[in-house]
Formats: sequence, structure tokens, C-alpha cells
Amino acid sequence: MSRQRRIEGLRVGTARAAKGQVVRGELRLGDFPDAPIVSPVMIAAGRRQGPVLWVQGCVHGTEVGGPLGIVRFLKGLDLSQLSGAIVGVMLANPNAFRLYSRSTPLDGENLNRVFPGARNAGHSYQAADLLMRTAHKVADAVLDLHSGGDRSHVPYYALYRDDGSETSRQAARLARSAGSPDVWGSKDAWLSGAMFTHMTSRGVPGLIVECGGAAQVPEEHIDSFVTAIRGVAQAMGIVPGAPPTHPRYRHMDTAELVYTDGGGLFLPAVAAGDVVRKGQALGQVVDLYGDVVETVTSPIDDGWIGSIRRRYMPVYSGDIVSEVMHIVEDR
Ligand SMILES: [Zn+2]
Repeated sequence: MSRQRRIEGLRVGTARAAKGQVVRGELRLGDFPDAPIVSPVMIAAGRRQGPVLWVQGCVHGTEVGGPLGIVRFLKGLDLSQLSGAIVGVMLANPNAFRLYSRSTPLDGENLNRVFPGARNAGHSYQAADLLMRTAHKVADAVLDLHSGGDRSHVPYYALYRDDGSETSRQAARLARSAGSPDVWGSKDAWLSGAMFTHMTSRGVPGLIVECGGAAQVPEEHIDSFVTAIRGVAQAMGIVPGAPPTHPRYRHMDTAELVYTDGGGLFLPAVAAGDVVRKGQALGQVVDLYGDVVETVTSPIDDGWIGSIRRRYMPVYSGDIVSEVMHIVEDR
């Protein structure tokens, strides 16, 4: 997996790696009218050469558990034991983080749907292009940390792109090392604009780890992100020790997005990570007269609740209140 990188030349934005140190800097991802749009960056490098893992958070600005996990992991590292380096990019979408928004306030785009980006296009496309080019240049694998943000609960799981390639198989191995027994090898067309999809198709295994949300960041969710980063770094040989393994893994391949017909407040009937059958109630929509106006149900059997809108979160008609994934294997 490693492309024989040398720590001495590793640079991300203004951060320059130094052997046996954690260095800081900034990555510029665009400009406001009056100031640059930057992400804090930290690079932890060992004394020995080895692969480079790129870890990023806050592609969606409300998903703040990611950067918290990155700094907790990097600050707890024993650098004398490290071979290679770990690049932490705290805010892949600084504009969305600044205004606590899932989408990018400058242009309304969902950054995780516009990869690989483009140079001659709107802000989010330019930022996506910059992230792609920078990560592809320096990294042997890319780990993108997400959560349900302020809207939804999601279980702790790993997600990679199953495109049948050798790189995809490497990403699957990293996904099974991320500490969760639940792994989604996605074939979904709607994730074709995600960063991990394009990193994988360009020969660099990419994956997402999801955990938590619903506007809460308990310490154990931050610890799950730390476990995920450490497990992936162990699987790559950057950090010593064997990555966590589970006696059983549950594999998912595609997700059904469940939309509302009408608006109101959502009352969930299931929890993230539940297994549901076709027709089972996932939740209700209650209008502002207090009447139940809709019951949302699972479209499939053997469905795994990959996200569920949080209690009494307002919804509009056509809002996605749940992702129900097809379980293809449980062993
Ligand atoms: Zn996200």
C-alpha cells in the first residue's frame, strides 16, 4: 500500500512533518471576501519511515466528534513507536463548521456529494478538488470521520466503496480494522460524489467511519473515533499492534433512503443499529396540532438502521428521516 514516502518531504498546507514530532499548520481551502478559509492541520511523524494516513473531520460542519477524535488520538500517540505519519485535517469544510451547518453556507452544496470536485466551478467543487489533490499526493489511505451531526443518530460503523478493485479490497480490510463489527461496502450511486469513492477509484483506499450524532458528543463517541483511527493505523503498520477484530461482522451493501410525505416533528420508533423488517414502523410525523399525520415504515426486510432522525427534529416533505441498509451477510 505504501508508495515509499519519506517523512522529510511530507507537507500539508503550512504544516511540515518533522521526525518524532507533532507539528501544526493550516490548509487553505478557499477564501472569504476578506480572509482565507483554512483548516487546522496536525502531522504526527515517527522516527522511522512508513505509510501515511490522512484523517479528516467536518466535511459536514455539525459533525464535530471527528476533529475531537483526531486531536485526542494525535495527542495520545507514542511517537517513538510510530513508523510513517498521520495527517489530521480537522475541518474539511471550515465554512460549514464556522456556521454550524451540514451543507456549505457559501453555496448550499453538500460537500460529500461534489467529489472529485473541479477547479473551474463553485466553492465546494474547488474545495473538493483541493482536498482530493492534496490527500492523493501525500496519503496511502484516507479516513473521513462523520456522524449524524445535529439531525440524526447513526451507529458506529465503517463504510467503503465496493467497486471490485484491488484498492477497494484494501479499503475493506481497513474498514474491518476500524473497531466496529458493522461494515457497509457501498455500491450506492448516490455516494458516487463522496471523497472515499474517488480516492478508492484513484488507487488510494478511502473509508468513512460514522459514530453518534443527534447534537450530542459523549466522550465514548470521541473514544470510538480514536479506536477507529488507531485500528486503521495499525492495519497500515504505522502504529504497532494488531488492529481490533470481531468474531462476527455484519456486512451491508446498499442503503434505502426513507423520505417523508409531509412536514412536522419526527418521533422515531427504532434506534440506530436496529434490524427491521419490511413494513415495520420507523417513526411518526406529528404536526403542529399534535396529530400523527404519517407513519414512516421500512421498505425492506433484513434492514439495518444506519441513520434515524432524532426525536422531535422538525422535518419537511421529502426529508430523509432514515437510511435502511440491506444486510447481505452476518457472520
Ligand atoms: Zn457527514
